[in-house]
Amino acid sequence: MSAEQADVVVVGAGLAGSATARALARRGRSVVLVEAFQPGHRHGSSHGSARIFRRAYPDPLYVRLTGQVQVLWRQLADEAGEQLVTTTGAVDYGPARKQEKLYEILTGFGVPAELMTAEAAAERWPGMSFGPDPVLLHPDGGVIDPERAMAAMRASAAGRGAQISYGTPVLRVETGGDDATVYTADRSWRASAVVVAAGAWLEPLLGGQVPLPPLAVTQEEFFHFAPRTPGRRARRPACTPRPATRISSWTGTGPSSSARPARAMAPSSRRWPARSPPTWPAGGPRPSAASPWPPIATPPNHLYHGHLGAL
Ligand SMILES: Cc1cc2nc3c(=O)[nH]c(=O)nc-3n(C[C@H](O)[C@H](O)[C@H](O)COP(=O)(O)OP(=O)(O)OC[C@H]3O[C@@H](n4cnc5c(N)ncnc54)[C@H](O)[C@@H]3O)c2cc1C
Repeated sequence: MSAEQADVVVVGAGLAGSATARALARRGRSVVLVEAFQPGHRHGSSHGSARIFRRAYPDPLYVRLTGQVQVLWRQLADEAGEQLVTTTGAVDYGPARKQEKLYEILTGFGVPAELMTAEAAAERWPGMSFGPDPVLLHPDGGVIDPERAMAAMRASAAGRGAQISYGTPVLRVETGGDDATVYTADRSWRASAVVVAAGAWLEPLLGGQVPLPPLAVTQEEFFHFAPRTPGRRARRPACTPRPATRISSWTGTGPSSSARPARAMAPSSRRWPARSPPTWPAGGPRPSAASPWPPIATPPNHLYHGHLGAL
């Protein structure tokens, strides 16, 4: 089996891999995007219709990056001719009291932000409870539709000549000389650079081959609640409690899971507790659905990338 040639092979067509394939194709590179499952699969971290887009981070690097990203999201939406990010505003609240610091950083970068009392916030968004601490709103925050975004990214990449191969698990990546070869069961590609965006499958695919930070794979559970008044959807901001609560937590807090290359995750063991958590009002609403998601967490909780070869 002789290897086909490409400038770059991208392994994994989640949000990271799809965005990478598009960016490279826009730079005129010949790109092959290889994905183990079919489009729309629910085994990775990127499926569903909602991810928070926010600009409020304690690290100024992310405030700068999200400013650049905002422009890129608009470009992608224009190209796709559809809305990918719905700007709802985003709020931070809770006893960890990071709101003042976040406000300082945001306004230092000229990002619109508003610091208000919990009473003012409760009045503004009836039905929500913020506790006694100040509440930060930044109106630029919102909700990304990841599935539509990935479809738009891949359509954009394919329109610029990227080759996309679904249902094609990569079995191994071999490096040698100035290039690397990506092997699947019946095809292989040689390229001067390989980007592995395999999410929770990174370690099983590349572990021992390249230095990776310590990675913990956990299975997270999302609970969905039906609106009290069917058909009526209130305009709510995206919310980030600080610190996280038992029912609204950061990713990386779920039970450990394991991912093997190209195999689906085990079903989640986590269920809505039989008795409501202490932070939940007595007789509070019950979830109407739950969906398990396997994300990958890196302990420093930072963006991490490493690369072999020039991009
Ligand atoms: C519950 C949850 C809530 C989140 N909320 C937010 C949020 O509000 N805001 C936000 O910005 N982010 C959020 N995130 C994080 C965000 O969703 C992830 O960072 C992002 O989806 C990761 O994308 P990815 O492409 O790295 O990984 P994935 O989406 O997991 O993609 C990896 C892909 O690689 C493929 N793959 C793996 N191994 C192979 C192989 N051997 N061969 C071929 N293909 C392979 C997989 O099939 C998969 O499609 C959340 C994540 C979770 C889990």
